[in-house]
Amino acid sequence: MIKKNREKIDRREFLENIGRAAGSSVMLRAMVAMGLGSVLSSCGSSAAESSVIENNSNVGVSSTDTSIQKSDPVSLGSYTSLKSPRPGDWPASSGTGKSVIILGCGIAGMTSAYELAKLGYAVTILEATDRAGGRNRTIRSGDVVNELNSSQTCMFDGSTESYFNPGPARISHDHEFLLSYCREFGVVLENFTNDNRAALIHSTAAFDGKPQVAKTISADLRGNIAELLATAINQNALDAELSATDKNNILRMLIRFGALNGGTYKYEGSSRSGFSGQENVGSRDRDTQISVNELQDLLADSYTIQQVDFSQNKNQQPSMLQPKFGMDKIASAFYRNITQYVTTRAVVKQIRKTAEGVKIIYEKNGLSLNLEADYCICTIPATVLKDIQNDFSSNHQDEINNFQYSNASKIAFQSPRFWEEDHSIYGGISWTNQDITQIWYPSNALGSKNGIIVGAYIWGYEAAINFSNQTPQQRIDSAISQGSKIHSEYQSKVTNGVSLAWANIPYQLGAYGLSTASTLLTADDNIFFAGEHLSNLQGWQEGAILSAYHAINEITKKVHA
Ligand SMILES: Cc1cc2nc3c(=O)[nH]c(=O)nc-3n(C[C@H](O)[C@H](O)[C@H](O)COP(=O)(O)OP(=O)(O)OC[C@H]3O[C@@H](n4cnc5c(N)ncnc54)[C@H](O)[C@@H]3O)c2cc1C
Repeated sequence: MIKKNREKIDRREFLENIGRAAGSSVMLRAMVAMGLGSVLSSCGSSAAESSVIENNSNVGVSSTDTSIQKSDPVSLGSYTSLKSPRPGDWPASSGTGKSVIILGCGIAGMTSAYELAKLGYAVTILEATDRAGGRNRTIRSGDVVNELNSSQTCMFDGSTESYFNPGPARISHDHEFLLSYCREFGVVLENFTNDNRAALIHSTAAFDGKPQVAKTISADLRGNIAELLATAINQNALDAELSATDKNNILRMLIRFGALNGGTYKYEGSSRSGFSGQENVGSRDRDTQISVNELQDLLADSYTIQQVDFSQNKNQQPSMLQPKFGMDKIASAFYRNITQYVTTRAVVKQIRKTAEGVKIIYEKNGLSLNLEADYCICTIPATVLKDIQNDFSSNHQDEINNFQYSNASKIAFQSPRFWEEDHSIYGGISWTNQDITQIWYPSNALGSKNGIIVGAYIWGYEAAINFSNQTPQQRIDSAISQGSKIHSEYQSKVTNGVSLAWANIPYQLGAYGLSTASTLLTADDNIFFAGEHLSNLQGWQEGAILSAYHAINEITKKVHA
């Protein structure tokens, strides 16, 4: 049965008010803002960039985190996405006879080492921890997560499909350099379902706090907006902008776009909305068309509307990918190709300039050692770097000191796949305006008995700090309590919680950069800087790679100056 309270909203009046006040092009913009905003807005390259428009859509950054909005191209320094220097752009053998010390063995450091070695440079990587990958990390049964004030052991079962990516977990099809390394190194990829129309959107401020199925919100939003625009056209409100042919074409398009009644141009609901009851356990009603949400109700809470469109963001659009069996398959593959250059458990303590180049003082096995080279690429996160003794220029040091980072955290549980069995959710993300922000359903091993569900991905400023400050058990308790608002069966299903707060991870002390780099994109004598935080794709591995390309390019220019 279709329920529509037509008295609730007089669209004609609504439309006319906007049109009268601001003109019809503004009216169109208003319609865009009502839910198609992200379709038409100029999205930034990274999640961070677009978060002002597409709040919370990211990897990464909540409204509180980001007042930052950058321009579209994936650029570093003066390079645009088309012009970014890349392997093949640097003269062959240009590094012969030259040496580079790379600080940090994350994706930026490993990319630098791999490419510089191909150019003939003598390369050394110093890495503080005992593993390659940095933030590219996967947690499996028996792994220990050491934070500054706590230690947890992962209790998942030992299946190869039972893993948790606490940092990077998805790859955009647009991240061409990362994907080309996967191809080159033989990293097997599979689809990552990012946007799932069967997943839920939950706001404590809307729909009486009841989770809504994303497909219903999406269908009703399109339907209502299409009807509104059709009404405007049919009432000749847009005649100044549109020819008769335009009007016909748009009306024809709107019928399909919004599933409108082809005769009346009214939105009367649609099978696109799915069946009522999917959000509950086992109570689906397949014979009754789901009630239509009025536009007012949809717009009453901006949270719901924003989340339904998060995958319009350039970095979140389908298709998305993930390495089979965990993101660290990429780190391992890189490492296999550069093992000979890497010294692990080598904690950099001082970064010094010499007359000829650089000198790095580091600690390994309790000994203070040093190493000299012509150049250094420093990929150490600014959060850590600011406390390392150095000879940096005051401008470089200032930018490092003031570099802002997100405090993101995640928690994962093992569970029988109730989301598949009871809710038809196969991969994807449910959203909530509670602190946990997101629940991620596994895209791997679909249809199997158990899976690893990400019970929170928090990046909002306050929420992330609160989560970081909690003990592992407090995080488990709060994630279960909040998750139960989305899935009533949650508490009885999820077990073996394991969390990671990046602000508390030694040698990371933060999740991803938020500030805009400037001085750090320039060399400080023979010291060059790289790392995701310096790219316009902050919070993405592709950004780390692009930052490495930038540093290599700057070294190349210096070598050939
Ligand atoms: C929560 C979260 C979600 C993310 N989601 C995604 C995603 O879905 N997709 C995606 O592509 N990217 C994602 N990212 C971003 C991605 O993880 C990063 O962009 C990338 O891994 C950063 O690589 P990097 O080399 O710049 O830095 P890092 O990986 O941090 O490498 C720096 C290295 O320096 C080392 N180091 C630090 N101090 C010292 C010292 N004193 N001496 C020696 N070594 C030191 C560290 O141990 C580390 O290994 C996410 C990140 C986080 C935190």
